[in-house]
Amino acid sequence: MVTEPAAMRERPLAELRGGDQGVVILARVVSAERRDVVRRSDGGRLPVLSGFLTDGTATVRFTWWDPPALGEIERGTVLRAGPVTVREFRGEPEVSLSWRTRVEEASEAELPKVDLTKLPMRTVGSLRARDEGFRLDARVARAGAKTVSIKGEDRRLHEGVLVDATGTIGFTAWSEFRWVPGDAIRITGAHVREFRSRPQLVLDERSQVEPVGAEGLPTASSATSGISASIADVERLGGGALVRVMGVVVGLSPPSGVVQRCPECRRSVREERCRVHGVVAAIADLRARAILDDGTGAATVNLDRAATERAWGHDLRYAIDRARVYPNDSPPERELADALFGRRWTVIGLASVDDFGVSITPESISVSDEDGASRLATVRRVWSRDSA
Ligand SMILES: [Zn+2]
Repeated sequence: MVTEPAAMRERPLAELRGGDQGVVILARVVSAERRDVVRRSDGGRLPVLSGFLTDGTATVRFTWWDPPALGEIERGTVLRAGPVTVREFRGEPEVSLSWRTRVEEASEAELPKVDLTKLPMRTVGSLRARDEGFRLDARVARAGAKTVSIKGEDRRLHEGVLVDATGTIGFTAWSEFRWVPGDAIRITGAHVREFRSRPQLVLDERSQVEPVGAEGLPTASSATSGISASIADVERLGGGALVRVMGVVVGLSPPSGVVQRCPECRRSVREERCRVHGVVAAIADLRARAILDDGTGAATVNLDRAATERAWGHDLRYAIDRARVYPNDSPPERELADALFGRRWTVIGLASVDDFGVSITPESISVSDEDGASRLATVRRVWSRDSA
């Protein structure tokens, strides 16, 4: 059945329902990717363009079957497309474009006027990749800037961490918002992408930020000192941008101690041979992969050279000298392990979770002062639990 153009209606994405036909949509491209699918009938390959569209009222997945073989469609392009068909997948409407669909570029000004004050409020813990069209109240926990090179051009990227009562999320922004850690803010019109398997908030030129009352948000001091969590919770939540865990060092994982690194890529090398750069003049470095146990689980805390030197009380030079004196006995590793073993640490940092469990890149490590006897008692407690 061919739908008469007269019957076609332009509709906001929020009003689309599975089974709708002959609909015209007007939306901005959030993401678009070309790929080939294999046709079931004859095994032939069919190109498709799929991704996400938003008009400010909702974000929906789209699939464009057999699209024109033009270049990529850039994020941010506004399109008018019709007729499209709508089907429902896992309760969410999805839009299909076919050879019958007329697609033309439209202007940003034609998008539905969304009343920003009516966008739904969301919490940090509820945000998922590709979310868009929401408001978020949060406290700034970290804020900084770095210069990155994009297509040969230097740009300032502002980044940091936001926190609310439900969790933490990293953010990036191309503009300077002049906020400082501790500020309570409301963000409207940001979107969420996936970065290193975690959601990350992206503020673009459409995003708005304003100060907000601190009701319901963590205090400024708790926001900036990290969110206390058990290691089991960190694992369950898939990591976090600014977690604070307390535990006891129960061992070191290899490689710890003196390692040799490629001067080009910093990968660790064996026998002066980098697996990417071949034979190189390796540079000695010091690191520790400390296993921290808090009674709910274990995490690997990755200490770089400066953090290892602080925690150990000896520097790289000392470690290299020890290794030279006892070349076959790896004394630096053993001395390092002895020095850290049983220490009670409070670690604040970026936690990630993979097949090997929780690992933390520490931003700070504070050591509780304990005498040898209580250190030993703590270690015994952890051990007796593990062997129980
Ligand atoms: Zn290399």
